[in-house]
Amino acid sequence: MDRYDVVIVGGGHGGAQAAIALRQAKFAGSIAIVGDEPELPYERPPLSKEYLSGEKEWERLLIRPPAFWADRDVKLRLGERVTAVDPAGHALITPTGEVGYGELIWAAGGRPRRLTCRGGDLAGVHSVRTRADVDRMRAELPDVAQAVVVGGGYIGLEAAAVMRKAGVAVTLLEAQERVLARVAGEALSRFFEAEHRAQGVDVRLGVAVDRLEGDGRVTGVRLADGELLPADLVVVGIGIEPAVEPLLRAGAEGGDGVLVDEACRTSLPHVYAVGDCALHRNRFAGGAAVRIESVQNANDQASVAAKHIAGEAAAYDAVPWFWSNQYDLKLQTMGLSTGHDAALVRGDPAARSFSVVYLRGGRVVALDCVNSVKDYVQGRKLVLDGARISPDRLADAAVPLKEMA
Ligand code: NAP
Repeated sequence: MDRYDVVIVGGGHGGAQAAIALRQAKFAGSIAIVGDEPELPYERPPLSKEYLSGEKEWERLLIRPPAFWADRDVKLRLGERVTAVDPAGHALITPTGEVGYGELIWAAGGRPRRLTCRGGDLAGVHSVRTRADVDRMRAELPDVAQAVVVGGGYIGLEAAAVMRKAGVAVTLLEAQERVLARVAGEALSRFFEAEHRAQGVDVRLGVAVDRLEGDGRVTGVRLADGELLPADLVVVGIGIEPAVEPLLRAGAEGGDGVLVDEACRTSLPHVYAVGDCALHRNRFAGGAAVRIESVQNANDQASVAAKHIAGEAAAYDAVPWFWSNQYDLKLQTMGLSTGHDAALVRGDPAARSFSVVYLRGGRVVALDCVNSVKDYVQGRKLVLDGARISPDRLADAAVPLKEMA
């Protein structure tokens, strides 16, 4: 059985950053990354943006150049899937055997939810989570005239924007009454809905998919009310499921994710978890246990776990941030708006440069900034401090946010 001082499961943002941070902290032991994708660690955000559109080459997505990993003596075990964890034996089980660990960092992320209705597995139905997903989609796109996107979250909206730019007719289906319902307030949802409509996307809200039609390959989407939407291609962006079953089966506490403390330790000895799959108490969520699906969270939690293993004191307390590009719009988010009780718009959405400031109990908890880098940069301190500022003042776009800090 191969054995490493630290084994990292998952070769995404969190897994790569854990290895990088361990070496930065002068950790001299052996390190292996076990990842089920065959690729070197790469950046996922461009998958639904510049990589899907073909504007960015694959090589530019790599988190580090290929030689980096050997230079830092990080063993990459790619294309290897962990099926079980044996905490007592300090070992991971894979289809080809066992891998021993001293410390384990679980950075396995999540798997895209799939449509469970009839036809959900037809050819031409795509998730957007891995390079392989997007390569398959790109190979088909030149022959696609009309597409249906299921889900109005970031994946669905970004994929819709790329396909519209490529001249594809797009219908977008969202189960909720507004897009981005899970991550943003009403004003931002309505703005993005209007933008997509103006770009020619047929946005349908509060709709349910009954089944996908086709014989081998998808030809259309049948809605619950009976309407048939013809489609040469379907993109499914309906969220992810955290990849934590092996840990939960091994006895780790959790449910929707695996529970970790401020040092990213799970309830299993010598087992850490970071990134999309880590359920943690977050002060920016009012102390609630949440999973945050973002690059920032993956990187920052990975650094905390790595430092802890290397013997440095570290606790996760980073302010969440996030971004999305659609058409010529750059959305930047700071903080977490979940549970907000007031939202103020700064600036004029019609001018396509504005911000939404979210309050909870009178304190600033988050900002969504559209083509408004200044507010994003200056608003960080307000979110960090949970600043109390009068709504009138916050909404006055003539007063810079830095003057309110
Ligand atoms: P998401 O943010 O969870 O949004 C999915 C949306 O689809 C939800 O509003 C969901 O509604 C809706 N939905 C669920 N089932 C549906 C159905 N059968 N028909 C129609 N709508 C349905 O997930 P996502 O957009 O797939 O994104 C996946 C992950 O990638 C997330 O972690 C996301 O943050 C990340 N990502 C980030 C970026 C970025 O940073 N810019 C870009 C792309 C992706 P319910 O809430 O009712 O389920």
